[in-house]
Amino acid sequence: MSAAVKFDQVVKHYGDFEALKGISFEVEEGSFFGLLGPNGAGKSTLINAMSGLLTPTSGSIQVQGFDVIDDYRETRRRLGLVPQELISDPFFSIRELLELQSGYYGIRGKEQKQWIDELLERLALTDKTHAITNQLSGGMKRRVLIAMALVHKPRVLVLDEPTAGVDVDLRHTLWEFTKELHQKGHTIILTTHYLEEAEALCEKVAIMQGGEVKALDRTADLLATHPFRYIRVSFEEKNAVLSEALASRLVETDASGHLFKMENELSMSDMLGMIHQSGLHVKDVRSRDATLEEVFMDLTGAQA
Ligand code: ADP
Repeated sequence: MSAAVKFDQVVKHYGDFEALKGISFEVEEGSFFGLLGPNGAGKSTLINAMSGLLTPTSGSIQVQGFDVIDDYRETRRRLGLVPQELISDPFFSIRELLELQSGYYGIRGKEQKQWIDELLERLALTDKTHAITNQLSGGMKRRVLIAMALVHKPRVLVLDEPTAGVDVDLRHTLWEFTKELHQKGHTIILTTHYLEEAEALCEKVAIMQGGEVKALDRTADLLATHPFRYIRVSFEEKNAVLSEALASRLVETDASGHLFKMENELSMSDMLGMIHQSGLHVKDVRSRDATLEEVFMDLTGAQA
């Protein structure tokens, strides 16, 4: 499959500081891709470099085969970026902003007007068409940003933390819309701190830390090949005293019991043996694979 975006040995220095340490990977055409990592990992730097907003110190980035520096205009047309913040504009209405943005790409005419109408409707902004951005709530501003990124129907849509600080309803609307775009063949690249969302939506994820890619795989494979799984046990004993072997694997204790992190090579009977040695009696036990959040924490040692 051809690449929607190809990063080749991308390095970015800020003074002496190396924010990207030679990033190379490809995002497949038509895929739903998650770019994850703790704060400071280099995600924004990479996204900004991909969008032509900053120039890498060395290396190259191609969008659908076009170089983001040499073929800037071609790549801008193919890529839509939804940034985190909307810079409020006190003069223009939402519709005017969308028309100006269309003009920037040289797209005018009846069809474009219809597309703007459709975007406004899909993003539940129809009744705000004539509002200026200063009058909008945070969630509405977010929807305007998405409309602006989509005004030129880019093949590759990059969403930087699209659901940060938005309410559950809007999150739902955004995901439905994004999934629909993906189904229509758009490539979606997403950064998010909500790893449950990334797990549900992204076919593939890259986990970055310290300017490097720590892991890159199909989400299902990353979860399946992770060297740990999780076991929740409730004991008959009210105040269970754990052996050292058990205590070293304990993640948390709550009303529903104890959560243990187990190496995959240990079997359930090894685990039951440890419990037996502690003189404890099992009331209930459930085993599951690690979640993306847990894989992320194991790989980076950080909260998402
Ligand atoms: P992320 O988006 O993953 O949180 P960033 O790409 O924003 O990470 O930042 C990566 C690293 O580069 C951080 O250590 C950050 O402090 C540093 N950095 C980002 N922008 C600049 C800048 N303009 N000047 C100096 N350092 C920067």
